[in-house]
Amino acid sequence: MSMEELNALQRGYHRKDELEELGVLPPEETVKEKRVALIECVEEIPCNPCAFVCRLDAIEKEGLCTLGKVDWEKCSGCTLCVAVCPGLSIFLQQIKDGKGYVTMPYEVLPAPKVGMTVQLKDRSGKTVGEGKIVNPTYQAKGDAYPRWVVTVEMDDPALSYEVRAIKIPEE
Ligand code: SF4
Ligand code: SF4
Repeated sequence: MSMEELNALQRGYHRKDELEELGVLPPEETVKEKRVALIECVEEIPCNPCAFVCRLDAIEKEGLCTLGKVDWEKCSGCTLCVAVCPGLSIFLQQIKDGKGYVTMPYEVLPAPKVGMTVQLKDRSGKTVGEGKIVNPTYQAKGDAYPRWVVTVEMDDPALSYEVRAIKIPEE
């Protein structure tokens, strides 16, 4: 079976066109106004830490096993849901001063540092460009899923709709 024939569950990620159809990706006017979260969960499994952790009640889940959706009016871009999601399925997006920004979970070494130039990867793992780390924060003690939450800047704002991972080159 070719990659084109696989569904999101078999593939392990949604394609951008599928996310657009699901209404998951925030419109450009929203991300130009503020940083907001979006959920790219693939599996409808019993899970809800994202909705539980959101202090603004911005994540809507009709039931424990249904896919969540972010209310961008309510979302403040606080990153708590990115830090807590066990599926690494939540990201933040923003377009500011003509540049794109994506905030994502990061759980491997080497440790991210401000100013590092990194490879930008799309949902399939393909390298789509280079970006710069602008804000790594480490969620550790007391958190269920210790990890970094990294924000990366990219010159092409359209890439913020594609980039969902980074690779830090070995020193
Ligand atoms: S970024 Fe913060 S406010 Fe927005 S959905 Fe996530 S937890 Fe809620
Ligand atoms: S916490 Fe993550 S995996 Fe669980 S329902 Fe929310 S988005 Fe999906």
